[in-house]
Amino acid sequence: MNVPVAISGGGIIGNYISLRLKRNNIDSLIIEKSDYMPDMSEGIRTLTLNNHSMSLLKAEGIDIESAPINEINALDGEGTGKIQFLADDINESYLSHVVMFNDLKNRLTELCKDKTLFNNEINSIQKFNSEDTSEAILGDGDSLHAQIIAGCDGRNSNIAKITGLPNEYYEYKQTAITFIGHVTNNDNSLIAHQAFSEKGIFALMPMPNKGSKKNRHTIVWSIDNSILQNISPTEYVKNNLSFFESKLNIKIEVNSEILNFKLSNHHFKNYIKDSVVLIGDAAHSIHPLAGQGINLGLADADIFCEELIDAYNKGFKINNKAILKKYEIRRKGMNLLMLKSMDFFVDFFSSKNLYIILLRNFGLNSVNKTKFLKAFFMRHASGLNKF
Ligand SMILES: Cc1cc2nc3c(=O)[nH]c(=O)nc-3n(C[C@H](O)[C@H](O)[C@H](O)COP(=O)(O)OP(=O)(O)OC[C@H]3O[C@@H](n4cnc5c(N)ncnc54)[C@H](O)[C@@H]3O)c2cc1C
Repeated sequence: MNVPVAISGGGIIGNYISLRLKRNNIDSLIIEKSDYMPDMSEGIRTLTLNNHSMSLLKAEGIDIESAPINEINALDGEGTGKIQFLADDINESYLSHVVMFNDLKNRLTELCKDKTLFNNEINSIQKFNSEDTSEAILGDGDSLHAQIIAGCDGRNSNIAKITGLPNEYYEYKQTAITFIGHVTNNDNSLIAHQAFSEKGIFALMPMPNKGSKKNRHTIVWSIDNSILQNISPTEYVKNNLSFFESKLNIKIEVNSEILNFKLSNHHFKNYIKDSVVLIGDAAHSIHPLAGQGINLGLADADIFCEELIDAYNKGFKINNKAILKKYEIRRKGMNLLMLKSMDFFVDFFSSKNLYIILLRNFGLNSVNKTKFLKAFFMRHASGLNKF
């Protein structure tokens, strides 16, 4: 088999790249480890897509049900610090949109299924050669020649392991709990809330209504592992939900199973090795605090496609080293900035030091009064700052 671009991993990022390249006359083949078995249940997982991600997906004809957010209120649960982000402040109608993970994944998988080898994976890459093609040996023994191999196979990327590129990995020593909650006495369903406290970082966002199911919200709650040593996540939710209910002045009824997962981040020092390129979670992962994981991945995919399509239209080789390097240069700084900012917020808001508690209350209230600073944060998180 011979194909210009081989994509390892048919997740949201791999599928998006395949669609965008196809629309621009560049052929690709996705190699996906799992079966073609869309999970048709609604699921619990949601994704918060920023405006840039929404417009990228729309350009590929992806239009799924979403819950828009036009205001984010962040508050310090231990004090009086508050900050309010409004879409109006950056002249946008919305700051972000919450979608169901399964809705987006299924829609993309369906559109790409004819260009996907399911139940297969790349086991080894025989030749790294930037001017020619690389040969990938697949799990079923077949071989595949491609000018570019794109690693879109998620945070435990096998392609990244094959390249041997150096990786920085960090455990937050926190667990994220996520569930769906039915919220009452909530006046405005376009608002997302975030509260930082010793009891964890608590985020509450509106979610798609799905027919008659109204007033549902998605909750992502990050808790120190030390707290969960002697209590199950479900018990912890039962005992501590009322704290955030009174802080936010709402009532929440747990409406789904309670999922939990350990939190860590990673970042590869380089995203390319010869003609192998790491994209999305394969290259980096981030704390879910600001719901930026998928947005960083889609921003990577956007720049990767932009560079490739530009080279193709100008008649250059798409695996030219300078072209691939441009992708890395344009994305690495932006990803690191977001990653390090999240680490700073996690440390700053986890601190029990009295001076830091005072400083963050003062800081939040001061930033809240500084429109240009807030606009900078919002534009960055909305994906509107593109290099
Ligand atoms: C519970 C949870 C909540 C989250 N919430 C948010 C949120 O609100 N907002 C946000 O922006 N981000 C969120 N994220 C992060 C977001 O889900 C990821 O950033 C995003 O899914 C990454 O997409 P991806 O396509 O790069 O990788 P993945 O979604 O991991 O997809 C990788 C694909 O590769 C396949 N694969 C794996 N190994 C191989 C292999 N060896 N060969 C071939 N195929 C392989 C997998 O089967 C999968 O289809 C959340 C993550 C979790 C776990």
